[in-house]
Amino acid sequence: MKYIDPHIHMISRVTDDYVRLARAGCAAVSEPAFWAGFDRGSAEGFRDYFRHLTEVEPRRAGQFGVEHFCWLCINAKEAENVSLARDVIAVIPEFLDRPNVLGIGEIGLNKNTKNEAEVFQLQVELALKTDELVLIHTPHLQDKYKGTRMILDLLTDNPRVKPGRVCIDHVEEHTIQPALDAGFWVGMTLYPVTKCTPDRAVDMIERYGTERVLVNSAGDWGPSDPMAVPDFIRAMRSRGHDDGDIRRVVWENPRRFFSGAVRIGSRFKGAE
Ligand SMILES: [Zn+2]
Repeated sequence: MKYIDPHIHMISRVTDDYVRLARAGCAAVSEPAFWAGFDRGSAEGFRDYFRHLTEVEPRRAGQFGVEHFCWLCINAKEAENVSLARDVIAVIPEFLDRPNVLGIGEIGLNKNTKNEAEVFQLQVELALKTDELVLIHTPHLQDKYKGTRMILDLLTDNPRVKPGRVCIDHVEEHTIQPALDAGFWVGMTLYPVTKCTPDRAVDMIERYGTERVLVNSAGDWGPSDPMAVPDFIRAMRSRGHDDGDIRRVVWENPRRFFSGAVRIGSRFKGAE
């Protein structure tokens, strides 16, 4: 079945992964800007990273017939350094007009600190300026509930934020409902450790439905599996879901969300 992986860090993956993704039916990926595994020393490091996301990776993906989209931001971990974050935020507009850019992401919180919250709001304001889509990372494990609550409050307190243009990613059983209830899109991340398994994702689909729900691998440089979305497709089938429901989650939903991006719009709606 044709599908989209709406959250995968291809910069950390080998070319063979593109071959496997294409073979499994992956038609498009979207790659949020994230933490490289070390704190970068200056905004120049981010400028080079944004060139990678907007020039190198789409070219590499294209060789395997996979369409590549990306998101730009300074991630929550490095956002703790507010002065670096301000320098990076000043660089982002140079890249926003590149044709594969969906919006601002993955912004969010990591340890739920005041500095992270300040930089989060600066980046929401940046997104609002040009009506960008926003992709949001919610913290891991013990910080998840509190962090998700803080993020939802920051967003819903701002009347200019349209929930239908924002995806709250890495939701789990205890955070999916408040995000959906507030009108946001949600992303379920399938990870071999921490986060959610394909079966837990199917449980959540059975409980909350398929509306505004995305499923992703969040494949990166840590323990993760770029083939997690095909595993989810298999888990849905083995639990008796028909192809229409599965296609809605892995194909129609990400297309619908992405087609709201200011510079993707009808181009992506028409992608077959
Ligand atoms: Zn990520």
